[in-house]
Amino acid sequence: MWRLGLGGGILWACLIALAACAPPATPTRVPTATPPPTLPPATETPTPAPTATATRLPTVAPTPTAFVTAPAPGSAAVVPILMYHNLVDLPGNATQLQLDWTVAPKNFDAQMSWLAQHGFHAISFAQLVAHFKQGQPLPAKPIIISFDDGWAEQYSVAFPILKKYGLRGTFFIYTNPVEHSKYVTWAQLQEMTNAGMEIGSHAQSHPHLRAVSAAEALKELSESKAVLEKRLGKPVVVFNYPFGEFNSAVTELVKRAGYECAVTLAGGYRQRADELFTLHRIRVAYPDTLDAFVKRLPP
Ligand SMILES: [Zn+2]
Repeated sequence: MWRLGLGGGILWACLIALAACAPPATPTRVPTATPPPTLPPATETPTPAPTATATRLPTVAPTPTAFVTAPAPGSAAVVPILMYHNLVDLPGNATQLQLDWTVAPKNFDAQMSWLAQHGFHAISFAQLVAHFKQGQPLPAKPIIISFDDGWAEQYSVAFPILKKYGLRGTFFIYTNPVEHSKYVTWAQLQEMTNAGMEIGSHAQSHPHLRAVSAAEALKELSESKAVLEKRLGKPVVVFNYPFGEFNSAVTELVKRAGYECAVTLAGGYRQRADELFTLHRIRVAYPDTLDAFVKRLPP
């Protein structure tokens, strides 16, 4: 199915990009204000000292702030999860869909710069899970910076900017188009992994998981996880529902395939231990000014 888009040039690529990101049928929650918590570097270790992974990330010294302990059962942790897709400059006649699912490289740089300057610590989903399941503390002002679909510019644009500011990103890859035009390559993903970036799964073919059979859904979930782990040598703990589409049956399959959490397109920055498979995210859009971006974050 994706082959149609790969062979067809920019128009097809754009259409596929937008189709892959069409707004979901899931409800949207409006973020509410709450003071932010605290966090450490990479991996599952809560030590404030930089880990082997974190030391590969330049600048932004880890600040020795107080750590945030895990919330009581049933209560929420404030961990914004930013969501990006395409990172390109759009023409003046861009469609609303393009505006909704794209951020200009210059704006992305300004947003990452602001996060670094204001003490945010980019964590991994593995750390978020360890926080909820084992009570491991998070560093101050934790945030997760996530990217969907594995577009080529996520390597060429986002990765260098994240490194520049010492921030970690999580990249959700659907495995079929890797190595094809407009998408990242395995070598690029390995380089990103080696530099401390986290890779999550977005299935194999970006399917409508509520519409396919349970067997087909489980294959998409399991085989994408297996190939990412085999190619990159790191456990894949997080899944991203294609099109943001899920239901209780799909979520059960995600658990059965061995994932520890999953993200949706539902808005908000409060995450709960009993919602690890329906984590909320904050979509950043093309028209967002830096001020608008900041207002979507915890105060
Ligand atoms: Zn997608």
